[in-house]
Amino acid sequence: MQVLKMELQGFKSFADRTTLTFAHGITAIVGPNGSGKSNISDAVRWVMGEQNVRHLRGQKSEDIIFAGTEKRRPQGAAEVSLYFDNSQHELDVDFTEVVITRRIFRSGESEFFINKRPCRLKDIHLLFADTGIGQDSMAVISQNRVDAILNSKPEERRLIFEEAAGISRYKSRKQEGLRK
Ligand code: ATP
Ligand code: MG
Repeated sequence: MQVLKMELQGFKSFADRTTLTFAHGITAIVGPNGSGKSNISDAVRWVMGEQNVRHLRGQKSEDIIFAGTEKRRPQGAAEVSLYFDNSQHELDVDFTEVVITRRIFRSGESEFFINKRPCRLKDIHLLFADTGIGQDSMAVISQNRVDAILNSKPEERRLIFEEAAGISRYKSRKQEGLRK
């Protein structure tokens, strides 16, 4: 399933409304240190429902909202939208384009939307369940995770491959079944 576009506003270093469009094939994001490349992958994880701000390299939820610079005032909210091509109906909704949006205010209040309609985080989890691009998938691998994978023991690495192959849920279901 193709990601078509991402819009960010007030997310980390992206104070202004920023639109990234992704063509077919591989997209590489390049730039100097500190220019915001990792902030883009953080935005992907966040909009997909990441709940632990430390996984986004922050300490508290406010850390993902543009904090201001000498010349610019801080933003009151952060918002990220991710657009998916759903023409093959891999996501179980009638739309041929699906956009998920997350917004957070300094108060900590968080909102989720599917195609601009308010929803629960759970609805986003359900929409992406079994697609391999959900919150817990291997779709986004951070720098420190690469080190962890390389340094892991064979048994730990096996779990990573099982998760990537989408068989961990069958394993947990099997264990559930054996317990009964
Ligand atoms: P590297 O090549 O070193 O990995 P990078 O391009 O991945 O760099 P990022 O880590 O994405 O860079 O961006 C870091 C920048 O984002 C820093 O300059 C930091 O000040 C800025 N930043 C992070 N959070 C915020 C925020 N809440 N408000 C404003 N700027 C922020
Ligand atoms: Mg980086």
